[in-house]
Amino acid sequence: MDLDDYRQEAEAFVSALDREYYLHFSGRQDEFAIEAIYERHARLFSRESVEALRETDNRTLLKFAAEGYVEQALKDLSAEFARLEASLEVEVDGETYPYRQAAVVQANEADASRRRALEAARNELVARRLNPLLREMFDRSRELVRDLGWPSVRAMTEELSGIDLGALREQTDSFLAATEADYEATVEPPLRAQLGLGFDELERADLAAFFRAPSLDEQFPAERLLPTFDETRAGLGLENGSPGNVIVDAEPRPNKTPRAFCAPVRVPEEVYLVLTRVGGREDYETLLHEAGHAEHFSHVDRALPVEHRYLGDNSVTEGFAFLFQHLTEDPAWLERRLGIDDPGPIVEHARASKLVFLRRYCAKLAYELDLQGEGDPAGLDALYAQRLSDAVHVDWPDTSWLIDVDPFFYVAAYLRAWALETHLRRELRTRFGEVWFEDPRAGDLLRELWSIGQRERADELLRRLTGAELDFSALLD
Ligand SMILES: [Zn+2]
Repeated sequence: MDLDDYRQEAEAFVSALDREYYLHFSGRQDEFAIEAIYERHARLFSRESVEALRETDNRTLLKFAAEGYVEQALKDLSAEFARLEASLEVEVDGETYPYRQAAVVQANEADASRRRALEAARNELVARRLNPLLREMFDRSRELVRDLGWPSVRAMTEELSGIDLGALREQTDSFLAATEADYEATVEPPLRAQLGLGFDELERADLAAFFRAPSLDEQFPAERLLPTFDETRAGLGLENGSPGNVIVDAEPRPNKTPRAFCAPVRVPEEVYLVLTRVGGREDYETLLHEAGHAEHFSHVDRALPVEHRYLGDNSVTEGFAFLFQHLTEDPAWLERRLGIDDPGPIVEHARASKLVFLRRYCAKLAYELDLQGEGDPAGLDALYAQRLSDAVHVDWPDTSWLIDVDPFFYVAAYLRAWALETHLRRELRTRFGEVWFEDPRAGDLLRELWSIGQRERADELLRRLTGAELDFSALLD
């Protein structure tokens, strides 16, 4: 196989797919015509290509081809799913909302009973309309992975990513055990401050409103949102490096997905940062998170092969996203960028939210190892609900046992990214002090790390930078 031909076509495909994703999920275009893109590039994901890449030592391209083999076979179902999701409406008390907007409405809803009604209506749609399709996609993907000769998605992911998911799970299980005793005591004070609820009354329907933290809104004014992003880039000396490569799309549109995202359509020269404004602190957090991705992709060396610019270990790009996201809870950044002199409540809320998230993701990894293993999936909806309920300490519905799963263990990328970010942040503070985000030398270091894209896995990057091992227990501090 001619690897350079393959690379060229892979880049055309990824770029076209990301563009379609951007146009659809930013609400600019109703259609989500991914089938044609897969058809145009079908040879990338043929059995022959997978077999030929097996003969090379390029595991990153083999992973791309093998995952693509599964995804192209599911493309009609995926497109059907996206269209269905975009067409659904949630009805509560005679008012209707587009399904994708309902989560935002719920996060902004001050009244607990309305939050719960919205959640119940959303769950009902997931169960009745979305789950049948998700189940079909799940069953098909298992068969497809077996067609390629791997016994499970887990086995395929571990072999091709070089990440030992079982070892990661040992670390995340230890984290769950180590944080169990103090969990409620850490979360309850800010929970009461935001929602007036304790764990005895808390439901999953309330969590998004807790993360949203309306009482902190005043300190995060909407008109400072985009300027703080520009000032942060300027502080790091980044605005000179990639003029125009990052395109911020913050306009509201009815069918814009409530989940902010970064679409690296052409790396490094055309990277979209898409934001749906929810209001307050959360807009800052999501903007900075996606900005971390956007800065990473827009600084990658153009000369690198496609697999290092677009593919590889996503723990790396997520780590940079978390690094930027964390600024919105960093007392020094809050003081400099927003003039906040008492960051106490913000820091306390952030700590509690992060603990909820980390425990949720630890539980998700344990569950997904069962779901994506070799066993029968019967009863796994109950296992999902059990694990999540135990970790988060709320009654977690089993309805979302499939919709809560990102493909090919992306959950592990988040978990490893949290660990990477903790190490990176420590290193930046050690080298450049508490206000590292105003030191162009920190920007230079980041630029250097970004320039190699995802050529190194998160553990390799960290070992080269500091000599440390990427261990999830770093989060315990
Ligand atoms: Zn991210």
